[in-house]
Amino acid sequence: MQSIKNLWLSLQPVSSVCPKNRACPACSGRALRSKSSTAVGAKAANRVCGLYTAIPHATLRSNLLSERFCTISLQCFSFAAVNQKKIFMSLVVVGSMAFDAIETPFGKSDKIIGGAGTYIAWCASNFTPVKQISVVGGDFPQAELDALTARNVTLEGVQIKKDEKTFFWSGKYHLDMNTRDTLVTELNVLGDFQPVVPESYQDCEFLMLGNLAPSVQLSVIEQLKTKPKLVVLDTMNFWMDIALDDLKKVLAKTDVLMVNDSEARQLSGDYSLVRAAKKIMQMGPKYLIIKKGEHGALLFHENSVFYAPALPLEEVFDPTGAGDTFAGGFIGHIAKTKDISFENMKTAIIVGSALASYCVEKFGTERLREIKKADIETRLNEFVQLASFDIALV
Ligand code: AMP
Repeated sequence: MQSIKNLWLSLQPVSSVCPKNRACPACSGRALRSKSSTAVGAKAANRVCGLYTAIPHATLRSNLLSERFCTISLQCFSFAAVNQKKIFMSLVVVGSMAFDAIETPFGKSDKIIGGAGTYIAWCASNFTPVKQISVVGGDFPQAELDALTARNVTLEGVQIKKDEKTFFWSGKYHLDMNTRDTLVTELNVLGDFQPVVPESYQDCEFLMLGNLAPSVQLSVIEQLKTKPKLVVLDTMNFWMDIALDDLKKVLAKTDVLMVNDSEARQLSGDYSLVRAAKKIMQMGPKYLIIKKGEHGALLFHENSVFYAPALPLEEVFDPTGAGDTFAGGFIGHIAKTKDISFENMKTAIIVGSALASYCVEKFGTERLREIKKADIETRLNEFVQLASFDIALV
């Protein structure tokens, strides 16, 4: 903390150059890649700006080749380079990016944007920049990729296979909205996806392995030269059915596993969730989160357990992606606070639950695109009200 403060103080001369200077990690990475500047100074300015001076992206673009800007930014470049590794580590997210077709008792969607990685990126980017790893086909709309880029999601690790089709999933919810049937899973580009972790992702401090083939998740872990501070894994019954051996290898390298109650039972072979948790934690994860839909979530660690409720909602329109949304909020909060204690994970679960409560209000990612920081705070307050009480012991 102290070093961040010192760093900030050392950058004060830059503030006097850029009147708009304020907290903004906006241009990290993206600006560096998107400009083919030949001036070394401009590149340095670019990086310094992205990581340290917090000059808004638009300001950076218009000033990129300005000599005055480069010179002044260079003053702090050497200082920045020394501190870069220590302070600004990143969140890497792996997960499917997809087209979904959803049917609920309230309506039916055409092919809309979905995928575990998509939901996670939309949510985690409320809190911290994201470096995404995924694959899409030539049919995936460029506008969707641009919308993520605009939210500080780096897409260098997203492969675009122009002549192939994007992963497609279709599901139909039962009346209770807690259970659903998968109608179609067309792997398409996911079928032979070989992830390549870009060099710029090697600073990964937090790794969120969203729902995807366990072999892909494992490959990402193995490509990282330094073990992340926290590896979080989300998976589903589909992979337990067809790739259990690979999944067990990933579990052995995972710190936090997220599954729903039926998946926890399937993985452990035990109906009791408490016993299931013990068995699963012996497979590798030190922490286990069991999601129970409208009944909230449980966090297990050693002999401790924490329960977080879900917000009672009048209407649940479409639960698709609620689990991934939860994951995005959870890891976004952890990466922002850089605190991996059990206590902070409790808060992260509430953050994840708050975001999930928005996700279900509209089809697909629609609602997540609308919410602002203030909305998240409002829901967090509702959670505090929901779960706090005084009791006089007799
Ligand atoms: P959730 O409702 O949180 O379980 O997540 C639903 C999302 O997961 C949808 O957007 C799907 O595109 C995606 N999905 C469904 N099945 C798979 C799968 N086998 N692998 C990767 N992503 C999937």
